[in-house]
Amino acid sequence: MRELDRQLRAAFGDPPAPQTKDPLDLLIRTILSQNTTDRNRDAAFEALRRKFPSWEEVAEAPEGEVAEAIQPAGLQRERAHRIQEILRRIRAERGAFSLSFLAQMEPVEAEKWVLSLPGVGKKTAYIVLLFAFGYHRFPVDTHIKRVSQRLGLWNGKGDPHRALAPLIPEGRAYELHLNLIRLGRTLCRPKNPRCRECPVLRLCPFGQEKVRGEHDQRGSAEAG
Ligand code: SF4
Repeated sequence: MRELDRQLRAAFGDPPAPQTKDPLDLLIRTILSQNTTDRNRDAAFEALRRKFPSWEEVAEAPEGEVAEAIQPAGLQRERAHRIQEILRRIRAERGAFSLSFLAQMEPVEAEKWVLSLPGVGKKTAYIVLLFAFGYHRFPVDTHIKRVSQRLGLWNGKGDPHRALAPLIPEGRAYELHLNLIRLGRTLCRPKNPRCRECPVLRLCPFGQEKVRGEHDQRGSAEAG
């Protein structure tokens, strides 16, 4: 993993700092990002904040109006319901619309608290804990699942968060997370990964096999 981290860093550099570090903004943005593009997520988040400048207003608004604002992200009814549930729960438990209190908790306790919010899974919780607080957590999205399987880091069974967490060097979770996503979006795409151009081909059993296969095919075609 250290070598993979080094190679990705050499190819892509260190990724930029997160756009927002406010933990509640991050949580809502991440909920809006599921199964949609970054552009639609941003459009939905901005429309929501334009229509309701405070989280209090989002929590108190009729559900349909929240849904209308976040429509660019899709699944707006379900998401509006979940966002309002989460905001009301945070206010009921903490007396304010803020997640800053998580900074005072041990990471394990903070993780339990975020995971107890309705509909929040590990990927979303870890994004908040890593991006906003710098806790050592490694969020795994669909790109990281695919790339890590091809790299032989996860066998595709069980919880990938559990499998990959012990492999991540302390202090490198943020960069590795974003660089692996970048690799998955640019070269290691679901169909026809561009292994010959890949900066980590040397470390990748899947890629080496693919390149060998292509080489053998070319050899037989030339011989034929
Ligand atoms: S060598 Fe190919 S399969 Fe392996 S990580 Fe790179 S693009 Fe993906």
